[in-house]
Amino acid sequence: MDRGTLIKLSIAGLALAGAAVIAWRSLGSSAGGGDDAEKYDETRTRWLCLEAACRREFTLSTAELGAFYRDHEDQNPACPACEKQNTARASRCASCERFYVPRHEPPPPGQRPKPPSCPNCGKPVR
Ligand SMILES: [Zn+2]
Ligand SMILES: [Zn+2]
Repeated sequence: MDRGTLIKLSIAGLALAGAAVIAWRSLGSSAGGGDDAEKYDETRTRWLCLEAACRREFTLSTAELGAFYRDHEDQNPACPACEKQNTARASRCASCERFYVPRHEPPPPGQRPKPPSCPNCGKPVR
């Protein structure tokens, strides 16, 4: 192997390493999409920020929630966006896939309870 080949090889190696770093960085920067995967993770608890200006949807694993409740009994976890504790446990609508807070209003006297519906799209929810 002559000197020229060695230099070419090492340049190729550097280029490869550079490409790997760029690929890794772009993977890292697209991690914001990870939020979405969490939204569909049935093992996580779903939460909705009730601040009118925020309405952030977020999820917590049962382990995270358990750790929070150990230290903050009777409180709701803070919203990751506005950091207020004005949050509520939410469900995800199967139709529009947005989070909503299920309401359990008693029906008017003499009427049968209405089937629950999504406040975002109005479709019936389970
Ligand atoms: Zn918020
Ligand atoms: Zn909906």
